Amino acid sequence: MTGFDEAHIWHPYTSITDPLPAYPVAAAKGVRIQLEDGRELIDGMSSWWCAIHGYNHPVLNGAARSQLEKMAHVMFGGLTHEPAVQLAERLIKITPASLRYIFFSDSGSVSVEIALKMAIQYWHNLGKPAKQRMLTVRGGYHGDTFGAMSVCDPLTGMHSLFRGVVQEQLFAPRPETPFGEGLRDGDTDQLRALLERYHDEIAAIILEPIVQGAGGMWFYSADYLRAVASLCSEYDVLLILDEIATGFGRTGKLFAAEYAGVEADILCLGKALTGGYLSLAATLCNDRVRDGISAQGGVLMHGPTFMGNPLACSIASANIDLLLESDWQGRVSDIETQLQAELGNYRDRTGVSDVRVLGAIGVVELDSDIDVAKAQKCFVEAGVWIRPFGNLVYLMPPYVIGEEDLSNLTAAVELALGPD
Ligand SMILES: *Cc1c(COP(=O)(O)O)cnc(C)c1O
Repeated sequence: MTGFDEAHIWHPYTSITDPLPAYPVAAAKGVRIQLEDGRELIDGMSSWWCAIHGYNHPVLNGAARSQLEKMAHVMFGGLTHEPAVQLAERLIKITPASLRYIFFSDSGSVSVEIALKMAIQYWHNLGKPAKQRMLTVRGGYHGDTFGAMSVCDPLTGMHSLFRGVVQEQLFAPRPETPFGEGLRDGDTDQLRALLERYHDEIAAIILEPIVQGAGGMWFYSADYLRAVASLCSEYDVLLILDEIATGFGRTGKLFAAEYAGVEADILCLGKALTGGYLSLAATLCNDRVRDGISAQGGVLMHGPTFMGNPLACSIASANIDLLLESDWQGRVSDIETQLQAELGNYRDRTGVSDVRVLGAIGVVELDSDIDVAKAQKCFVEAGVWIRPFGNLVYLMPPYVIGEEDLSNLTAAVELALGPD
């Protein structure tokens, strides 16, 4: 199996001629990933922010099965169904009251494309077609399709590789004020300067609220986000919040923007939306955006084949119910306390430049890049699944993880730190 995989199958951001090892998985249950060779790994990644309730969950399995008996999929053009309506009702209820309209798509990146399109169509329809650029901050990650890539950090997003193909957007520096601190002097100065100069060309500001994920796992001040929202009003640009990674409780709030009390004009959701079962995403917007796009008979120009997939929607509704019926806040807060105590021990270690924790996210930042293949092998031998990137080792376990399993994960992080 691994032979065929190595010869023919691309893995994420990996060479196909000189691939990193990929460990064959036979099954997964709860917080355990079972390898083909029988070894079991404690999952520290939730499969990239998704599997918040763990794997192979009886309730989510049940939702999948009962929907499967009815239909796996029907087209959304000219048809609708209970699973989509029920999920839309739930999402509209749990997000800010102003967000009342929803567009379903198949992945986070696509939901970002749709958000960008909404913003551009909004201004176009209001007679300001010049407003079609995006403003964002460095250190962001919004997905791998071209529009989404254009607003990713230019360095880690490899803009040089795609120069001339990826649209050139406007970038302010990464927010410097850490989470939990009042806004540092000057932190939004360059953002304001860009707005001052280019607001006639800017459709929207897009950013990940509070937690920048794959662009560097950085947690920034709620004051910064509040300042961004007020700059958006001042310069008349839309605010797009990408909660694809942060949504559904990961940061300790159901949605990270709640830390700042900020409401987006357009909101992207994905990842944990189906509890890690199927790919599904949603883009929500408010009355302002809906009315702008719809003026003079305007329609949103998008329509994915698998739009509103019933199987994914059913699982997503079950996933949200499961989350809201659980004591997720208590769980995330316990995980946070434990991560703070146990990862905090590495703070003074040689080679460690920072340890930060927010909600069920724990990050150890090193002075230099980690040898991923080597670290991964050590982790697997230690019975844990942790996948570092760049100079970061991080944990974001399923919320259902127990204290002892989490201690095993935090202890294993040491394996990536090198000699003290
Ligand atoms: C993962 C991610 C995306 C892209 O989602 P995909 O489902 O991988 O396309 C977009 N934005 C953020 C913040 C993400 O973490």
